[in-house]
Amino acid sequence: MDTPVRRPRIDPKFAGFKMSIRKSKIHRYGVYAEERIPANRKVIEYTGERLNRRETKRRGEGEYTYLFTLDKYWTLDGAFGGSGAEIINHSCEPNVVSRIMKGHVIYMSLRTIEPGEEITVDYNFEYVGDRNSCSCGASTCRSVMERMTPKLERDLAKLKAAAAGRAGTDGKVEVKAKSKAAYI
Ligand SMILES: [Zn+2]
Repeated sequence: MDTPVRRPRIDPKFAGFKMSIRKSKIHRYGVYAEERIPANRKVIEYTGERLNRRETKRRGEGEYTYLFTLDKYWTLDGAFGGSGAEIINHSCEPNVVSRIMKGHVIYMSLRTIEPGEEITVDYNFEYVGDRNSCSCGASTCRSVMERMTPKLERDLAKLKAAAAGRAGTDGKVEVKAKSKAAYI
């Protein structure tokens, strides 16, 4: 099932600051600060329809998904009832971090964010075999959106060695981008 957010907008009810949605260099559209956001402030709440495991699995198979994993059982689908936070792109060097507070997912600023800066969060996907390639452009980019684990590190090293051996290339790892979701 394809569940693109049709008319993405920031819902001011859930946003602590002025933000806009514009085209992003990272991926399709992104969310941008329209005013200065100090460090350690509530930037926006991630909202969406609450899904159980079975429904999450079904919806997670779309080309574009906007799922936020709350815990082992529950996921928020920002494609339905999303505040606009579901448009926030992943970066390996993010400027916001997600915190769960009393069942609400809050994106908090990690540092001062200047007007015009894109808001980014580390999706921290759980590595279960699939990898989502990252093109965040950060100097510390780990090339995938999954949280680094010893197994992921080994698998990436293997891919890199195989790619370098094949054509004497620079060993760039190609992985398929699949979903857009965040995981704490
Ligand atoms: Zn990255």
